[in-house]
Amino acid sequence: MRERVTPLLSEAQIRTRVQELGMQLSREYAGKDLVVVGLLNGVFPFFADLVRAMELDFDVSFMQVASYGGGMESTGEVHILKDLDRSIQGRHALVVEDIVDTGLTLFKVSNLLKDREPLSLKICTLLDKPSRRKVEVPVDFIGFTIEDHFVVGYGLDLDGKLRNLPYVGVYQP
Ligand code: 5GP
Repeated sequence: MRERVTPLLSEAQIRTRVQELGMQLSREYAGKDLVVVGLLNGVFPFFADLVRAMELDFDVSFMQVASYGGGMESTGEVHILKDLDRSIQGRHALVVEDIVDTGLTLFKVSNLLKDREPLSLKICTLLDKPSRRKVEVPVDFIGFTIEDHFVVGYGLDLDGKLRNLPYVGVYQP
């Protein structure tokens, strides 16, 4: 599988950008009661690197929603497979995602989390594909804006595989 992947973002590029985001978020949330929410599964490498680049004290919690049925297109259906184990009511919540594509997943997740009355709700994504957007979602912190490619690696999968590639690449079927 990995022989079909053309590198797009190198490990070094990702590392530099994640450090920058970490510093930006450290300034943004200084002195605030923060819960950093990771959307599983794809976020795990980005999440681990990002939270370690944030020089602050905060809670982490994970949520898992199903949006892709193992193919390459979003269905628009979002099911909660795993919910947060922390309350975000009256606290600042930062949702961390691997990639925003049509925006449908984050649109639904943010509406759901807003109902829990956080003090603020912001979104940080490693990758953004704005050309594919179907619904408008405010993305507050973006690692890289990319063209309309199907990308894999650094958490992003193809049918569950290739998440362990240390870089991001374009999959050529
Ligand atoms: P959206 O709901 O914004 O269309 O899609 C969000 C989810 O779709 C992401 O969390 C990710 O799981 C998946 N996704 C969207 N684009 C890509 C892509 O280029 N590669 C991979 N591997 N997954 C993607």
